[in-house]
Amino acid sequence: MEQVNRIAFNVPETGQERVVIIGAGFAGLKLASSLRKSNYQVVLIDRNNYHQFQPLFYQVAMAGLEPSSISFPLRKIFQKSSNVLIRYAEITKVSLEEKRVYAELGHLNFDYLVLATGATTNYYGNKELAENTIPMKSISEALHLRNEILTDYEYAISTRDYHERQTLLDVVVVGGGATGVEVAGALAEMKKYILPKDYTELQYKEVDIYLIHGGKRLLPGMSEHASRNAEKFLIDLGVHVIKEKRVVAADNSFAYTNDGKKIPCGKVIWAAGIVCPRLDGLPDEIFGHGNRIKVDRFNEVPGCEGLFVLGDAAIMEEDPDYPTGHPQVAQGAIQQGKHLARNLKKGKRDKWTPFKYKDLGSMATIGRNRAVVDISSLRMAGFTAWLIWLLVHLFQLLGVRNRVIVFINWVWNYFSYDQSLRLIINPRRSRGPGVNQ
Ligand SMILES: Cc1cc2nc3c(=O)[nH]c(=O)nc-3n(C[C@H](O)[C@H](O)[C@H](O)COP(=O)(O)OP(=O)(O)OC[C@H]3O[C@@H](n4cnc5c(N)ncnc54)[C@H](O)[C@@H]3O)c2cc1C
Repeated sequence: MEQVNRIAFNVPETGQERVVIIGAGFAGLKLASSLRKSNYQVVLIDRNNYHQFQPLFYQVAMAGLEPSSISFPLRKIFQKSSNVLIRYAEITKVSLEEKRVYAELGHLNFDYLVLATGATTNYYGNKELAENTIPMKSISEALHLRNEILTDYEYAISTRDYHERQTLLDVVVVGGGATGVEVAGALAEMKKYILPKDYTELQYKEVDIYLIHGGKRLLPGMSEHASRNAEKFLIDLGVHVIKEKRVVAADNSFAYTNDGKKIPCGKVIWAAGIVCPRLDGLPDEIFGHGNRIKVDRFNEVPGCEGLFVLGDAAIMEEDPDYPTGHPQVAQGAIQQGKHLARNLKKGKRDKWTPFKYKDLGSMATIGRNRAVVDISSLRMAGFTAWLIWLLVHLFQLLGVRNRVIVFINWVWNYFSYDQSLRLIINPRRSRGPGVNQ
């Protein structure tokens, strides 16, 4: 029986210790690439056959970039790495006793298991919000958002009914973290530069963009300086910033806030929090806040030898500088992936060193020429911050081709004031002649 299931994953027995990594995001990918040419057999499993660069999702959603320019096929990265195998599968269950992971493909045994499964959108248990709002936590969700926005612009131009038009045009963005701020800023830029050119029959001033944030200040993970400036930039761009209010319900026509108000809008974009997905078979006691899995300074789960968790999915409360866990950002994931590889390559555990997070700063952009940057004690806002944001994101992207394409797109958009990718592409299969007649 075991043999059959192994064949399903078709991973050869090489006599090497096997490291199975679930998730090829920032953490899993860094770990796998750092274990290239090591003595381990590495099996990198992801439900997508590509790595996705989440910080630029909003540009895909706003039709500024194509999905392919911020995604990178996993097989291409490991073409020349004979000890790294890629498997395209969704892992559903883990058995720590059997040292196995399970998927539709069957099961696969491991010596070391690394969960780098990231996080997903948090609706805080509200099913209605999950159904009626638009998330942006994957490339396909970003594309869906792009289709919705562009389709609504097209429908808005075809209706004579003022209220219907307003519903199609007005948008509520929920959550004043980096994603919400960046999406609201990009929507405001579309309103300012694209609508007047492409949709001349629409009154672009009629378009209302709301950013609703539950906290006292936007960008709560950044400095007061960044929050203040981000809010000012958004207001300058015409965004209605509403703080200390929560969206508690939404339907096709309104977003409802906790103070009993309703805001007319046809689309609610949900960027109000994340939670980690749980795999079946893991003991309840290993989970901490937001379903993050508690790990020690070696990213190992206490009491579960050989089980490691990295990136967004991990919470390392033992780091005295971050008692509530490291920030869930790309740098944390990358650093942990690199560090675990270094430890694993050392072999004997007595040589392992504890992980120390190095804060390289945080930033967010709000339309063209405007960004906020906190690096150590340095606080910047405006054009220079925006240039830094551009450079950092460009260099973090995987692959020279992607960097060149993104760079050309940005230069083009900057000088032309025009994103040129406003195509509505809905996956649809032709059913062949005669079927629909
Ligand atoms: C819209 C957006 C904007 C962001 N902007 C920034 C930013 O500007 N700067 C910044 O530092 N951070 C940003 N972040 C956060 C950053 O992207 C995350 O912190 C980072 O991606 C975490 O890396 P990770 O490797 O832990 O998880 P992820 O990168 O999320 O990777 C998880 C991987 O696991 C796979 N996976 C999950 N479950 C399974 C399963 N059961 N089976 C198989 N595969 C599975 C997923 O497909 C995915 O590839 C942003 C996030 C989002 C969503």
